[in-house]
Amino acid sequence: MRILWSGSLSVFLLCVSSLPVLAQDAASASPQAAGAPSAAASGAARSLDAVSSPPPASFNDVMDRVIEKEHLFIAQMRHMRPMVETYLQDLKTDSSGNSETVKDQYFLGRLDMSDAPEDTSFVGQPGFGHRMLNHLTGLYAMHFLPLGFAQMVVLDTDFQKKYYDFTFVRREFLGDLRCLVIDVQPKPNAPPGRFLGRIWVEDQDYNVVRFNGTYYPHPKTSYYLHFDSWRLNMRPGAWLPAYIYSEESDLKTNLGRALHFRAQTRLWGYDLKALNRNSEFTEILVDSPASVKDQSEATADPSPVVAARMWERQAEDNALERLEKIGLLAPSGEVDKILLTVVNNLLVTNNIDLQSDVRCRVLLTSPLESFTIGHTIVISRGLVDVLPDEASLAMILAHELSHIVLGHTFDTKLAFNDRLFFPDEDSFQRFDFKRRPADEDAADAKAIELLKNSPYKDKLGNAGLFLKALQQNAPDLPNLIRPHLGNSLAGGKSLRMSALLASAPDLDPKRSDQIAALPLGGRIRLDPWSDQVEMAKAKPVALASAREKMPFEIAPFFPYLTRLSSPASDKVALTAPNPK
Ligand SMILES: [Zn+2]
Repeated sequence: MRILWSGSLSVFLLCVSSLPVLAQDAASASPQAAGAPSAAASGAARSLDAVSSPPPASFNDVMDRVIEKEHLFIAQMRHMRPMVETYLQDLKTDSSGNSETVKDQYFLGRLDMSDAPEDTSFVGQPGFGHRMLNHLTGLYAMHFLPLGFAQMVVLDTDFQKKYYDFTFVRREFLGDLRCLVIDVQPKPNAPPGRFLGRIWVEDQDYNVVRFNGTYYPHPKTSYYLHFDSWRLNMRPGAWLPAYIYSEESDLKTNLGRALHFRAQTRLWGYDLKALNRNSEFTEILVDSPASVKDQSEATADPSPVVAARMWERQAEDNALERLEKIGLLAPSGEVDKILLTVVNNLLVTNNIDLQSDVRCRVLLTSPLESFTIGHTIVISRGLVDVLPDEASLAMILAHELSHIVLGHTFDTKLAFNDRLFFPDEDSFQRFDFKRRPADEDAADAKAIELLKNSPYKDKLGNAGLFLKALQQNAPDLPNLIRPHLGNSLAGGKSLRMSALLASAPDLDPKRSDQIAALPLGGRIRLDPWSDQVEMAKAKPVALASAREKMPFEIAPFFPYLTRLSSPASDKVALTAPNPK
């Protein structure tokens, strides 16, 4: 069974605007409409609404609905191939009882729950967590990434009433949603590897929106991790996995050591048009001639200089387009404009007039990196998250802007389209935006010059403080610091923009008012369906102690859950075309 899969409209998940949803339904009402899903697909989504009435009479009926919805969820997920990123920090408790990060691990891939025997990992193979988690993965008939974390998107692949005891606990709100809280325990005779813990079920359509616990009982030779798994309402009738937090503080393993770690798993890139070739083809057919026409106003052939610029731009656009299609780059949006404002502050105060527009884009991954593709500055979500203030952001952007101002060369091989024909998982090998060390040094020097003339000149101590924290933490966080596409911020003995260290105060981890770097996940909100990013609206919180500073650290997820505003079939009639 497929769920609605029309990529032509992006929906801001939590902006609760009903318009895109209505438009979507109107489109699917007409079989010829652009990117319309198959009749079976829209039928599947509709039937979800039908199921929700009449209200269940008993708790037993509720559980029937929940189980039915969970089976539908599994069916939906078999057609989804979202990106999955897991970032894990190994912890050690020091003599005073505080946890500190001693090592980290990173995995990026695409979740494939179809039956196709195919692994798609973007970073290295299979390695990560494989040895300790392969039993876990093997227990399930589904196809998973070579790590156990992606599995935590599923409560139970064979969720059956006969395997479980269910206990109603209470009603509770998660964000806007009123939920039934239910404890779930496998019956003594149930087959192994069942879910043990608590589920939150939204009380309108009875979808599981959160589950928290582990799998049980543990097999003799391996063990299960604890997890807190969250789903978001991404399409009408579809609640899909977005966040999983996992943590163990003292799990004894048969490898002879206790596990102590925190891990965040994020899923996104659900709506990748590239994965649905049929709908893509439909869109090509219905493209209006106007949108295909070249936008440029030039009426004559360009001069050689202009042609060279156009060629570079073509390579740049090809790279950006491909990265976006894979699900590694956010579509252009609000965050880009914020970044561009900082870039413009640097340009204007330095009287620099570049002959071509500078653009900014957000890489959707956690590792801290920034680089340029032609005249486009790319900065990773993780890096935006951990930067403590605008001056630090200006420091990162000034370095990249300097590559552009200094006219550092950009390999235009990507202007030939055949070079873009490669499997997605090869992206990190095929795309390489690394600079030569000499260019890096030159960009650092130029960036200092730009910053000294800028509105940020009096706040560079903070930027230097961030660099100090980065330098100090880098040995324990190799996977967070390791870039995939650009140059390292702090590789070996080198540190980007190290000239700013001198102006920074001493790093004092015990002072709760000195914020050198932020935790991961605090600034950027990612819509897992459309890949759009926006700045998080969380209010600043006063820290109770220095422990809460959590520089570069991982925290649990508590997304504010909302329902997509009513896609209800009754509204379709209002927007459907007039039958004349
Ligand atoms: Zn650089």
